Amino acid sequence: MTSPHDLFIDGQWRPASDGRRFPVHDPADGSELAQFAAATEADCLDAVDAAAAALAGWAATPPRKRSELLRACFEILTAERETFAALITAENGKAYADALGEAAYAAEFFRWFAEEAVRIGGDFRLSPSGDKTIVVRREPIGVSILVTPWNFPAAMATRKIAPALAAGCSVVLKPAGQTPLTAAYVVEVLRRVGVPAGVVNLVTPEHAGPAVRAMLHHPAVRKLSFTGSTEVGRLLLREAADQVISPSMELGGNAPFVVMSGADVAAAVEGAMVAKMRNGGSACTAANRFYVHSSVIDDFTTQITQAMKAVTMGPGSDRSNELGALVSPEERDKVAALVDRAVDEGATLILGGEPSPVGAFYPPTVLTDVQHGSEINQTEIFGPVTAIVEFTDVDEAVRMANDTIYGLIAYVYGDPAQALAVAQRLDAGMVAVNRGVLSDPAAPFGGTKQSGLGREGSSEGILEFLEEKYIGIEV
Ligand code: NAD
Repeated sequence: MTSPHDLFIDGQWRPASDGRRFPVHDPADGSELAQFAAATEADCLDAVDAAAAALAGWAATPPRKRSELLRACFEILTAERETFAALITAENGKAYADALGEAAYAAEFFRWFAEEAVRIGGDFRLSPSGDKTIVVRREPIGVSILVTPWNFPAAMATRKIAPALAAGCSVVLKPAGQTPLTAAYVVEVLRRVGVPAGVVNLVTPEHAGPAVRAMLHHPAVRKLSFTGSTEVGRLLLREAADQVISPSMELGGNAPFVVMSGADVAAAVEGAMVAKMRNGGSACTAANRFYVHSSVIDDFTTQITQAMKAVTMGPGSDRSNELGALVSPEERDKVAALVDRAVDEGATLILGGEPSPVGAFYPPTVLTDVQHGSEINQTEIFGPVTAIVEFTDVDEAVRMANDTIYGLIAYVYGDPAQALAVAQRLDAGMVAVNRGVLSDPAAPFGGTKQSGLGREGSSEGILEFLEEKYIGIEV
C-alpha cells in the first residue's frame, strides 16, 4: 500500500513508543493490508504538545500562505485521485466509483477552504453612545482534536483539517481504527506540500476512549470536532464539558425519504437509489425510511426493486461492481440481524436479505409493510436496505418523518409546490427537494436534534475554528 503505517507527530512519521501495532483489513476478503502503529496515550499527548508548540507560528502565518498550501493539497489529491480511491476501497470496502467520488469530494474541501482562508472577516461598530469603537476580530480557536469515522475516511478528515488549517489552528487527527491508511495518505500530502511540523499530527490509538479522553484533558486543547455516532458524541460532549472545550458534532442520521402523490415516480426512484445506495448505504445522509403515498406505492416499490436487483455486488477493487463490501463482518452481521428482526416484526422481505458467508457483503434488500416506529424504522441501518412505509395523509407523513431523535437530512419528492411545502415542515438541518444527494463543500452540512451541533463546509465551516475577540477603542 502507498500510505504510511505510522504516527505523524511534530513533522515525523514514527512508530508507537512501545512498538505495538494493530492490523488493518480489506473487508472484501479479510486479508491483512497493513500493521498500523498503535499510539499509546503518551504518544497522543506528544501529538498535542507538538500542536500546541506549532500553534502560534501557524496562526501568524499569512492567510495567503496558508491558502497556497491548502490549494497545493487539492492539486495533489486531484492528480492522485485514482491511487487515493484505490486505498479508500481497500480498507473501507466501498465500490471504486464511490471511492473515486469521495476522493474528489475530499480534495474539494482543500480547494474551498484555501479560498476561505483569505476571507476571514471581522467587524467594526460604533457604540450607541457614539464615543467608543468596537472592533471584532476573528482569531483561531487553538489546538483542535479531530475525530473521524470509517465510512468516509477521506472526506470526513479533509472536511475538518482544511477549515482548521485555513483558520490558523493546529490539529491532532484521530481517524477510525478500521481506516487509518486513508488518513495517513492525507497527512502525508500535507507534509509533502510543506505544512510546518506540528501543525498537523496523526494518532491512531487502538482503543479510542482513553486516548481521546487524555487529549481532551490536555490544557492546550480548545476545540473538539467529532464525526461519528450519536452515542459516542454524547460521551465526548461530557468529556469536552470538563475543560469547557468548544464542540462541533456531526452525528448519526435517520433520514426520511418522502414520496408524495404528485411525484414523478421514475425520478423518485432514481433519487432514492442515490440517497440509499451511495457508499453502500453506509452514510449518515443515507435515506433510511421511505414514506410513500398509497397512490404511488405499488409503482415505486416495483421500480425500486428492479433497480436494486440490477445492482452488481462484489469487491470494490473490481471497478465494474456498484456495491462493495461493508466495512467489516461485524457491520454486515449488524445489518443482517436488523433485517431479520424487522421480518420477525411483520415486515415483508421482497429482495435480498442473505448476507454473504465470505467477505463483509450484504446484498441490496427491499422490505415493505414496515411499521412506523418499528426498530428498523428508528435505527440507522448503515447498509443497502430499503424499508418502505405507506402513508395516505400528508400531515401524517410529516409527523412520522419528524418522529425521530435525529435531524440530519430529509428527502422529499413531489410536484415542486407540494414538495417545497413539505420541505419547510421537515425538522432537519438539510432537506433535499427532488434531489437524491446534497453534499457540497460550498453548503453548510449539519444536523438538528441529536444529529449534532455546528456546521461543516461552506463559509460557516471555518467559523467553527475561529472565535471572536472584541477590542474596544476610545474614539
Ligand atoms: P463511532 O462513533 O463508533 O466512531 C467514530 C470515531 O470515534 C472513530 O474514530 C472511533 O474510533 C472514535 N471513538 C469510538 N468510541 C470512542 C470513545 N469512547 N471516545 C472517543 N472516541 C471514540 O462511529 P463510526 O461507526 O466510525 O461511524 C458511523 C457513525 O458516524 C454513524 O452513526 C454515522 O451516521 C456517523 N456519521 C456522521 C456524519 C455526519 O456528518 N453527521 C458523517 C459520517 C458518519
